[in-house]
Amino acid sequence: TELTNQIAAGEVIERPASVVKELCENSIDAGSTRIRIDFENAGLQKITVQDNGSGIASDQIDLAFMRHATSKINSERDLFNIGTLGFRGEALASIAAVAHVEIVTSSNNQGGVRAVFAGGEKKLQEDAPSPQGTKISVADLFFNTPARLKYLRSERTEILKIVDIVDRLALGHPEIAFTLTNNNKILLKTNGRKNLRQDIANIYSRHLAERMLEIDGTTPDFKISGLISDPDDTRSNRNFITLLLNGRYVHNYNLTQAIMSGYANKLGPRRYPIAVIKIELDPVLVDVNVHPTKQEVRLSKEKELERLLTQTISDVLLDGQQ
Ligand code: ADP
Ligand code: MG
Repeated sequence: TELTNQIAAGEVIERPASVVKELCENSIDAGSTRIRIDFENAGLQKITVQDNGSGIASDQIDLAFMRHATSKINSERDLFNIGTLGFRGEALASIAAVAHVEIVTSSNNQGGVRAVFAGGEKKLQEDAPSPQGTKISVADLFFNTPARLKYLRSERTEILKIVDIVDRLALGHPEIAFTLTNNNKILLKTNGRKNLRQDIANIYSRHLAERMLEIDGTTPDFKISGLISDPDDTRSNRNFITLLLNGRYVHNYNLTQAIMSGYANKLGPRRYPIAVIKIELDPVLVDVNVHPTKQEVRLSKEKELERLLTQTISDVLLDGQQ
């Protein structure tokens, strides 16, 4: 029913930034090399995400917008071996339950298709010209869930949350060229040339990026790489530590603490490094299915990973001092 759809949607789509995150993750899963995100009025009026990925065939559109339908996993076994960012099949259905959605898409360079959804129902589908890839426009977010609207913070805060999530996705995917605009003003542009230091320069600052130290370490189960700030470049909160687990931006208190321990005694009280740390591991070791937003994860062998992070970072700092 419409009500159960709206309730389920609330778990995945809390705010405009959640829409941006889910649509971008779909674009990443679709193998895109370019993703463009535009929004107006903090995302409440309009959010558009356009990619050059695989596209959706016209006979797959209904399925894409159906709850719990995903093209990404086939069996329960796959659920413990997740290689894509999406797998719950909830995002498009959830967004369509609380907004007006238009999709224009073309797959395999076939003639394109356009469809319109509102309040969870498809209103229209027709042939329409489209470049290879997918463009999804989300308008009037939360038009039918006033309680959700009230819970949102100031326009400025919601914009910062959108910028923050796109920053993290871009840092996680230096091979993809991201462009983010708000009312036609460019807020972020990365070039997709696989240069993390360059992307950090664009997102944070050139001075900071140039001074960052390279991280590189492995154990039989984990490989970590990335960049961490010079101990003189610190921040007063932990928001500038970006953890990427097989390309997924995640929050994890223990891993963040392990990074901090690598810096032990080198930062003053309540100072934190700026870091982008990629962790590669067998997907079997991660349980992503902990929370609908997929930002919390449970890890097997977490202690081994914590030790690797702490050790690698403290070694790099020692080298840097010689
Ligand atoms: P999930 O990502 O968990 O599978 P979604 O609701 O986010 O669920 O998307 C449903 C399906 O729609 C995906 O499994 C995928 O097949 C298709 N899809 C969504 N967005 C795109 C896109 N940008 N490009 C290609 N296919 C897409
Ligand atoms: Mg998805």
